[in-house]
Amino acid sequence: MTYLAVPISAPNADLAADQIDAAVDAGAEILEFRIDYLEGLTPEKVVEILKHAQNGPAETLPIIVTCRDKKQGGAIQYPLKLRIDVLAAALRAGADFIDFEYENYLEIGNQERLRRALSMSRKGRLILSHHDFKGRFPDITALHRRISTVCSSAIPKLVYTAKNINDCFDALDLLEKTGGDRIAFCMGPAGLISRILTKKLGSFLTFAGIDEKSTTAPGQLTVDEFKRLYRGDAIDPETRLFGVIADPVAHSLSPAIHNACFEHQHMNSLYLPLLVEGGSAGFDRFMRNIILRKWLHFRGLSVTIPHKHNALAFVKAAGGTLEPLAEKIGAVNTLIITAHSGLKAYNTDYAGALDAVTAGMGIPRSDIADLPVAVVGAGGVARAIVAGLADAGAKIKIYNRTLAKAEALAAEFNCDAAGLDGLTDLAADLLINCTSIGMHPNTGESPIPAESLKAGMTVFDTVYNPAETLLLKQAKQAGARTIDGIAMFVNQALAQFKLFTGQNANPKIMRETICRNLHNP
Ligand code: NAP
Repeated sequence: MTYLAVPISAPNADLAADQIDAAVDAGAEILEFRIDYLEGLTPEKVVEILKHAQNGPAETLPIIVTCRDKKQGGAIQYPLKLRIDVLAAALRAGADFIDFEYENYLEIGNQERLRRALSMSRKGRLILSHHDFKGRFPDITALHRRISTVCSSAIPKLVYTAKNINDCFDALDLLEKTGGDRIAFCMGPAGLISRILTKKLGSFLTFAGIDEKSTTAPGQLTVDEFKRLYRGDAIDPETRLFGVIADPVAHSLSPAIHNACFEHQHMNSLYLPLLVEGGSAGFDRFMRNIILRKWLHFRGLSVTIPHKHNALAFVKAAGGTLEPLAEKIGAVNTLIITAHSGLKAYNTDYAGALDAVTAGMGIPRSDIADLPVAVVGAGGVARAIVAGLADAGAKIKIYNRTLAKAEALAAEFNCDAAGLDGLTDLAADLLINCTSIGMHPNTGESPIPAESLKAGMTVFDTVYNPAETLLLKQAKQAGARTIDGIAMFVNQALAQFKLFTGQNANPKIMRETICRNLHNP
């Protein structure tokens, strides 16, 4: 079992009582009393706070008491003697675990006093922890061995800052290689996956805060994120892993969408945000790291900015299978890792857009042939959509602020090109905005003059935040049919889900999840 430990980090007994109640309500499985946050620390104060937990709603929960040394991330620096006195008092008051720094435990005097305190407790156990806030340990395996040797009954706890997602693999490898009770994970935004995967790899515990304000270490999740967004209660050693590779990734809605569908379909699968920094070298390293570690069970990945081309190059170099149109587009947004570590690469962006068009216009794909289409923009999304439309035989004219980019894209896919001033004289049945104009927070902007929008036209805006952009509002007023960006977003995610799992996801759940999670719906 991996316990979900919630830190209680209050400056006084009243606030500690509030935090205890909130932690229990949130679903804490262990309470960690960070008494280095307590002002005017005394053994009596600690015993009073523990009593509140033991006699109240937390009476069945195990308790850890930690009075962290400031050098190891503590809040208020208290004298070592007081810190040990307080831990001894906590054990006498019935604490299940005390957490002490491995480095301080190496001093014989401290060791003897803690051993004596532990020997007088019926159930008390020691967690020996070592933190590095600067980066990886030089040799985490050797450190784990040293801690286990100095006190074989203690639970080793090894925590370090991941500067890059690839730094997480030391902690994951340690958990995979070792048995018994042990704790290992990484701090910082790049360490996120190591905190979630503790559960898959059987770490003794993982931490999550009641809310963002009460987290006690960089990168710590909230209980709600761990349980609801990352399916904390459903993760086990067999859980299959998926995720979105991006930089930045924090804004991505894909984890919420895919995890909601896994939950709905009772699938033992988890979708992670994967912050992969360091360009193509960082991408290649991450891919090699997950492919090498079959025990992680990574099965599929969404890929987005800035890695869509890196994904294509990686699959090509690895001799994987590549969807022909993805190669022509020059971008891959979906990777499948087979059980035998083979790679397959796809682009579901263009198919998602084409499906949104055919569903919105009520036509089969074959009717796209000869359809006059105006595409506004010549970036990554425009490229995927132009490739899909050209493949289906549409007559395309590309309009872009930078004319040279429109001309280059048009030359590749045999279309026409113009600058944005050409939009005053539109002759298209379908108009697609592939620029970011109108996106939150610039919701008062539209890429197309309102006078160019006509009844009988279909207007598709790929911008999905907000769902109804100014362009779509004005198109409706002009009597045109409209398609929003969420339709494309949902379609490409549906196609990915099918590639990932072989099953169809529920589009209603995807759409509702997107709308609920948009910052500005
Ligand atoms: P990109 O590669 O950076 O391309 C941006 C395009 O927008 C370029 O053509 C650029 O013109 C144009 N542009 C940007 N700001 C402009 C301005 N102020 N005035 C005129 N033109 C401007 O971006 P992308 O990856 O193609 O993404 C474009 C949009 O697609 C995103 O903003 C997002 O809203 C949407 N999107 C939707 C989905 C979906 O599933 N619905 C998925 C991904 C993206 P220049 O060439 O002149 O710079």
